[in-house]
Amino acid sequence: MKYCIKCLTTNLRPNASFSDGICIACTYSGTEAVGGSSVKLKILQNKIQQSRTKQRNKGAYDCIVGVSGGKDSTRQAHWVRDRLGLRPLLVCCAYPPKQMSEIGAKNLSNLIEMGFDIIAATPAPQTAAKLSLESFKQFGNVCKSTEMSLFSTVPRLAIEMGVNTIFWGENPALQVGDSAVEGFDEFDGNNLRHLNTLTSGGVDWLKKAVSFPYLSEHYLYPTEIEFEKKKINIFYLGAAWDDWSNDDNSIYASLQGLTLRPGEELDTGDLSNASMLDEEFTNINMMLKFFKFGFGRATDFVNEKIRSGNISRDEAIIIAEKYDGLCSDEIIKRYTEYVGITVTEFWDITNNWVNKDIFNTSPGARPLKKFTVGVDHES
Ligand SMILES: [Zn+2]
Repeated sequence: MKYCIKCLTTNLRPNASFSDGICIACTYSGTEAVGGSSVKLKILQNKIQQSRTKQRNKGAYDCIVGVSGGKDSTRQAHWVRDRLGLRPLLVCCAYPPKQMSEIGAKNLSNLIEMGFDIIAATPAPQTAAKLSLESFKQFGNVCKSTEMSLFSTVPRLAIEMGVNTIFWGENPALQVGDSAVEGFDEFDGNNLRHLNTLTSGGVDWLKKAVSFPYLSEHYLYPTEIEFEKKKINIFYLGAAWDDWSNDDNSIYASLQGLTLRPGEELDTGDLSNASMLDEEFTNINMMLKFFKFGFGRATDFVNEKIRSGNISRDEAIIIAEKYDGLCSDEIIKRYTEYVGITVTEFWDITNNWVNKDIFNTSPGARPLKKFTVGVDHES
């Protein structure tokens, strides 16, 4: 396992791309000075102008904004309406009741009360639980099917409703260094379909796991042909925004009534106490990610701070050592109840996915780390 020399990204990250020992995200952050945010805003506005189809229905929505009810959503929705002057329809793929947290429900209501039109599509609960367990067993990822539905719902509804401009907040290529989704430029989101979670393993496993074909529809990303036919364009907003960051977004959103989860970082491993508010199982996935790739959410969190010059790599190592891979027994227990397995079975499935070069495993138990953060590990 090798580390980026500037941040704490490892070369085990899916679609990681390093040049001269530096990861793609650090490479991009060094070039950010080109063109101020006002120039970028103009570029984005021109692109939107070109994207919007002329023969729209009268009174139709200008665009769709994919939202989750979390911190980024609040800001995106306001930005699109107030800064870009567009009439947005917010589309939210909501979690099934057993998965959605109290805070998630509250925050979604808060967003609706701000005066936006929202369509919330919720997957059939039993299918959602079944597919989560299936993705856990087959891919070591409890959220794979959930993420597939999150990313697919927005373009699916855009196509159905004939609204061709879609906004997402952050560009995953820049944010976390997934080179497969890199587009034509920093606004271009049309390669989102190549996101690791949507492509790896294909879709046959999902179609096989459901009892009727229609039950899989909610999870399938529309094809390139469907995009082409309806002239669908996806744009990332983050690039045109001078103060787009996790911290700024959660401060803004809190001021707009978003409820956070303060003081839970030792249970969730989430240092911001502001991400993944809508449900708890993503915390499990962040822990699994740590077992598979040697870095977790704390690393992503500190990487952003290293790139913005807020902390040093050495300070970041201390934080990543403490928080990466944390996820409380309670959250795990709730998940096992949700999908219908025992806690021992949970750890046994987990152990199938652990990178044994960097972790020690034993039956029915939590894996133990045998590497030091920030130091290349020979296996
Ligand atoms: Zn880096």
